Amino acid sequence: MWVEIGVSRWRCFAVARFSGQARIGVYSNTAVRSTKREPLGPMAHQPCDLFLGEMTIMKLTWLGHAAFHIGVDGADLLIDPFWTGNPTYPTVFEDRLAKVDAIFVTHGHEDHIGDTVRLAKKYGSTVVAQPEICGFVARSGHDKFEEMNTGGTLTLGACEVSMVPAFHSSAIMENGRLVGSSDPVGFILAGGSHTIYHAGDTGIFGDMALIQRIYKPNIGLIPIGDRYTMGPTLAAYACNELLNLETIIPIHWGTFPALSGKPEKFRSLVKRGTVLVMTPGEAAEI
Ligand SMILES: [Zn+2]
Repeated sequence: MWVEIGVSRWRCFAVARFSGQARIGVYSNTAVRSTKREPLGPMAHQPCDLFLGEMTIMKLTWLGHAAFHIGVDGADLLIDPFWTGNPTYPTVFEDRLAKVDAIFVTHGHEDHIGDTVRLAKKYGSTVVAQPEICGFVARSGHDKFEEMNTGGTLTLGACEVSMVPAFHSSAIMENGRLVGSSDPVGFILAGGSHTIYHAGDTGIFGDMALIQRIYKPNIGLIPIGDRYTMGPTLAAYACNELLNLETIIPIHWGTFPALSGKPEKFRSLVKRGTVLVMTPGEAAEI
């Protein structure tokens, strides 16, 4: 399914540049296969004006579940802002938030895409996500986004944002029904003396070692809640055997009773790196 969409996007883009007539054919051909998918080809959107500084001194605020605010060099970044419906989200946080420069979305599940569209519209933020999620954002009336996909790197000033794989599922709720919405991913944010790895929702996979070797993250935001992601045992195995992180912040735990993984167990099992257990709303300067 993923390959098919990717090929269709490429064909549309290539043909649209050189032949308007052929473009109509490709569009209509694809429309027969699915009338519900997002627009094909590079979508019309505002040019990227996002320029991030070096990630030397960062203020990381955990907002419960997989949601983070990252304050770095004057920029305000959000990852997976699941605020509405998140019982652990510290509700006063938004009152103090003057701006949001960018929102990174790991996948379309509601507990990750969450308040992305609302916040992006409110703050005029750039949404950084896979094309299918950007398509949803565009259909929701927000045209400030940057598409990227697994394996790609986006240079935003002094910060390089890379999209890496995650082993999970993904869908997006649109007009009351679930529609396909790309693959789940993780993000690497690199620049200056820090490189952050937000693993998204994922099970353990061997290529975490490749992610470590290539991007050399020193800060990891690692899911431990079990059932839907790695639990403490596998997450600790990933940190001990595949990754080489200096600071590890467990995420995706404690939000709902079904997430049974406990940070105390995770911390007791991690032998490589320092586990920083945060409470929602707590900020850490790194
Ligand atoms: Zn998920």
